[in-house]
Amino acid sequence: MLLSVESLKIHLKTPFRIAHGASTVRTNVLVRLGNGVGEGALPPYYPYRFDEVKAYLESLDPAVLIGDDPSALEDALDRLPPGPAPARTAVDIALHDHWGRHLGQPLYRLWGLNPTRAPASSITLSIPESLDGLRAQIEDLDGFPIIKLKLGTGRPEHDEALVRTARETTQAQLCVDANCAWTVEEAAEVIPRLAAYDLMFVEQPLPQDDHDAWRRLRRSLPADMPLLFADESIQTPADILALAEAVDGVNLKLAKAGGLRATRRMITLARALGLQVMLGCMIESSVALTAAAHLAPLVDFADLDSYLHLANDPFEGATMERGIVRLPDGPGLGVKAR
Ligand SMILES: [Mg+2]
Repeated sequence: MLLSVESLKIHLKTPFRIAHGASTVRTNVLVRLGNGVGEGALPPYYPYRFDEVKAYLESLDPAVLIGDDPSALEDALDRLPPGPAPARTAVDIALHDHWGRHLGQPLYRLWGLNPTRAPASSITLSIPESLDGLRAQIEDLDGFPIIKLKLGTGRPEHDEALVRTARETTQAQLCVDANCAWTVEEAAEVIPRLAAYDLMFVEQPLPQDDHDAWRRLRRSLPADMPLLFADESIQTPADILALAEAVDGVNLKLAKAGGLRATRRMITLARALGLQVMLGCMIESSVALTAAAHLAPLVDFADLDSYLHLANDPFEGATMERGIVRLPDGPGLGVKAR
């Protein structure tokens, strides 16, 4: 039974600059397990390093993990020992792919999902060098209906200028993601001003671990504001419970949750609490991105654009044309090596 572990070096077409820093290359982990393939993202601002992830993965016995019945996916997932989240994510995805290939069906079909119910995906623009740079980036986009602007430049008035420039340049729907950049006071001041530019939502205005800041922000904002979404602040199901009264929605990602099963559970929990759900991605190849896309029919917003930013995606799978998510119909993930 096969288990192989590789580093997957991903080069970006242009530097990706957000409030956490800039990247031109990322290293993810790629796992082949049985007939499946999986990927775990290792963003530089996460506490995991490739060597520790590789050591955990190489300690697994693939025959024991998969077991005697390849259709009993839940049992296989239960056998996965505690370990680094990116490694568990990669194995979870590979086990789902192996399961779907064994049963000869795409994951979305095994889950009973209708792929045409996936919401249109946004495309994310990283923090531009200048307002002219932002105009050029927007003019280069081919008909994407929703644009997500990264904010958190360190100057809230410049963040507002970016949103104003985008609004003057495009008819697309706009949303923004500050990646933890603002204090409660800054957020309470800037969000009502940004509301004038007709935003769908404001994502993660506040620092990751300050749950009370979210409650204070909620109390200080007037009615009729854009939706508030938490991303970095939502790492576990307990975070969803803690913030349910303070946010309108949560941005869930396979790499944060630890894979497809954990993400499905978090979607169910968020729904039960009346929250809206966005499905996001890290800088990932078409393996992890396609895995996430199989869940897209369950969510309200999709932000599944990472493959469009890559210079060297070794795989092909889910695609987006003008934001419409198209899932491959091969078994399992349906991804293929290029
Ligand atoms: Mg985000």
